[in-house]
Amino acid sequence: MQRVFVLDNQKQPLMPCHPARARQLLDRGKAAVFRRVPFTLILKERTGGDVQPVEARVDPGSRTTGLALVARYPRGDQVVWAANLSHRGQTIKKNLDSRRAIRRGRRGRKTRYRAPRFLNRTRPAGWLPPSLQSRVDNVQAWARRLQRLCPLTSVAVETVRFDTQLIENPNLQGTDYQRGTLADWELREYLLYRHGHTCAYCGGLANDPVLEREHVVPRSRGGSNRVANQVIACRTCNEAKGNALPEQWLAQLRASHRKIDTTRARNMEKVFAGLRPSLRDAAAVNATRYATGRALQTLGLPTTFWSGGRTKKNRSDQGYAKDHWIDAACVGEAGSAVRISRALRPLIIRATGHGSQQFCRMDKFGFPRTKPKPRQATVRGFRTGDLVHARVTTGKKQGTYQGRVAVRSSGSFNITTANGVVQGIAHRFCRKTQSADGYHYNFGGCDSSPTSAGAAGRGILAGI
Ligand SMILES: [Zn+2]
Repeated sequence: MQRVFVLDNQKQPLMPCHPARARQLLDRGKAAVFRRVPFTLILKERTGGDVQPVEARVDPGSRTTGLALVARYPRGDQVVWAANLSHRGQTIKKNLDSRRAIRRGRRGRKTRYRAPRFLNRTRPAGWLPPSLQSRVDNVQAWARRLQRLCPLTSVAVETVRFDTQLIENPNLQGTDYQRGTLADWELREYLLYRHGHTCAYCGGLANDPVLEREHVVPRSRGGSNRVANQVIACRTCNEAKGNALPEQWLAQLRASHRKIDTTRARNMEKVFAGLRPSLRDAAAVNATRYATGRALQTLGLPTTFWSGGRTKKNRSDQGYAKDHWIDAACVGEAGSAVRISRALRPLIIRATGHGSQQFCRMDKFGFPRTKPKPRQATVRGFRTGDLVHARVTTGKKQGTYQGRVAVRSSGSFNITTANGVVQGIAHRFCRKTQSADGYHYNFGGCDSSPTSAGAAGRGILAGI
């Protein structure tokens, strides 16, 4: 069960409570709904209360970031709240690309001579492309929001996919990666990155999803455990190569006329040559993650930074399925023992942005296609993205709808509910339950929007 956030009457966060307890508080009139998503109660009388340490754990990803709040009870760590936060990097990139294309077209037209400008092309230190910066901003915004709703005491964030420091360490060639199993996981992550998550021999031609660490010169034939002697290979190739020395296998491959063997032979030469991306690329991969780590430090909480190898090991050791929020829960040293209730469903958050700033739409030639936008994005007190509760009493659309509203200047709105979009709901039937905040919400796999009538608080609780 996802727990419910609780604030005291001074808006200070208390320990999140069980939904059953929240229902009790609401029924007895001791609390009121403070926020719909994430569901938060505010107590009417009590000030202060016992709090235990709560750690926010973050697993930043390129498309989706996992968030987990882990309560550190004396009896052990437990996930009390989790979310998958989807970013809109692709949308931002697409929008900027189209804007750039239109502008280039307009400037390139034969109108008059424009001197090239080149002195205004500087970027501040730590600049990230807008699509990547948006990821950092999303994570920071949510961390700040969670800090207001839950008594956070520390933050743990996965900043690197694998431990570059260790890999850059020259001693690595010797023994650093032979110690203990954690190092093995870091190495696996590094090798996966080095070979682009595909088989180093067949390049994915065997269509085998199982990727394994492979010793180029087999251990049984005197091959070393050094990084240089290891690659990522699919199980099919691994078994095909078996115990052969690389030279022997290459001879076999050259003798064969199968397509996959020709590919393998070609790739073997690369493996021999030791071709691989430099570690400088690895640092670029991690740039956004480092920026996320720095952004989280601004919360003013003790922040620890961890690597992806450790997260994967923790998750695998505990037998949890792969998901962004579960990875988040397993971040860090303490992530090796964390209880996740089976009933816990993450909140699915999708960044939607705050609408376009464009004054009017363009046609393909870069000329205005629509009338200028009205200055007010608010229609009859509603904005696109507001969460609304609509109770339609007359007409064909009779019923109760709850979801995200898209306003139309006509006053006839569209509402995105858990069951799809309902069009043409008049503004007079709508009641705003939460203002637009740039995110869209639903709950992992279950119906979040209670469409049936009933106590609004109850309905929301049932969906958590
Ligand atoms: Zn393969």
